[in-house]
Order: sequence, then C-alpha cells, then structure tokens
Amino acid sequence: MYVNLDTYRNLLAVTEAAGATLVAVSKTKPVAAIQELYDLGHRDFGENYVQELVDKQAVLPPDIRWHFIGHLQTNKVKYIAPFVYLIHGVDSGKLLKEINKQASKCGRTINVLLQMHIAKEETKFGLDEAGLEGLLDAYAGETAPLQNVIINGYMGMASFSDDASVIREEFQRLRKMFDDHAHRQTENYKPKTLSMGMSGDYGIALEEGSNLIRIGSLLFGARP
Ligand SMILES: *Cc1c(COP(=O)(O)O)cnc(C)c1O
Repeated sequence: MYVNLDTYRNLLAVTEAAGATLVAVSKTKPVAAIQELYDLGHRDFGENYVQELVDKQAVLPPDIRWHFIGHLQTNKVKYIAPFVYLIHGVDSGKLLKEINKQASKCGRTINVLLQMHIAKEETKFGLDEAGLEGLLDAYAGETAPLQNVIINGYMGMASFSDDASVIREEFQRLRKMFDDHAHRQTENYKPKTLSMGMSGDYGIALEEGSNLIRIGSLLFGARP
C-alpha cells in the first residue's frame, strides 16, 4: 500500500465538496503507487520532471490525465506534447509559443495555466502582474491567436510559511487577478482553472477559491 486510503477519501470528499479537482502529485513515487490510486478510480496525476513523466506515461493506462506542474524547459516540450493534459507552469511567451508549435505538430490543442509569482520568496519562476498583462496582450488578444494552445487559468504557489495569514493573502491576490481577467475571453484565453494549494495549504486555498489542488506528500508520504 502506497496510499493512505482514509486520507485519500477525506481529501477527495473535501475537494469535491468545494467543486474542485484533486491532482495527485506522484513525482519521485513508483508506478505502482500511481496504479494503486488509478485502480480506485483516480485519473488526475501531477509530475514535475519530463523524463520521469515520459517513462511513467509509457507504462500506465492511456486515460490518465497528466498534469505537468514543474518548470518546463522549451527544449523538452516536444517530449510531453503528444499526451500531456494540462501544463501548469507557463511563465513566458517563448514557452507558450513552443507549446503551440509542438501541439500543432501533434495535431493537438494543449491547455496551459500561467504561473503567477505570488510568494514573498525570490524565485525565477512565475509572472508578475505586468508580465501577465504583457503576455495576455501579446498572445491572448482577439488578433493573431496561437492556434494550438489555450490559456485555461492560473497557477500559483504561496510562501513557505507558518503564518496562515500570509498564505491566505497571497492566494487572495491570485484569486483577484483571476477574477479581474475572467471577462477577457478570447480564442486562446478561457480562464476557468485556478490551481493553488498543496499538502500544507490546500485548506486555505480552497477557502480562497482554488478549484484545483495539487497534493503529493499528504497522499503518498514524504519524498526523499
Ligand atoms: C511537489 C509539488 C506539489 C506537491 O507538494 P506537496 O507539498 O507534497 O503536496 C504541488 N505543486 C507543485 C508545483 C509541486 O512541485
């Protein structure tokens, strides 16, 4: 047994009550752990590393919805483009264009989330509000849409903090950005997913309007 069944059932109940999706983050965990949850009916799994995702996808059932939640390098998009369900971490036009190109080669339309930088911590990843505006103006307007990519919403990670009020404030900020832009629907931009909340902060995230939580260690145990 890789998964704590009571924890899984409780999480699923809480997530469904909130009208949200539970993505089981299986990075570093064996194929057998994924299969175990799959056999219980679970279909949404999240991975961070391209090679690991490709290896797992090859041996697991084809109806799994694979979420790529890590930082994606442009030169690796081609490996996951044939099958990935949702790419959560897009934070540049360059990456968006490459996803569009590879999706086109596969004859697919790939859904992506824009990663917003909401935490206090310094990190290279995620857009600020100006970056978001620029990206939406360039790629999500009425003219010159990308043909094979749809921006489906936003993803964010709160600060690693014991202070719930800090985390709550960060999620609120992302929720507000999501709401503020929701009216700007175009061919390439159909925001409906707000991916926020992990093992340590999913409760706050759901309270603040998340509709997709990404849960790893709580389900599968601590990672090495
Ligand atoms: C690893 C990871 C998670 C899951 O983290 P846990 O704290 O184990 O639930 C969620 N989101 C992202 C982007 C991750 O890298």
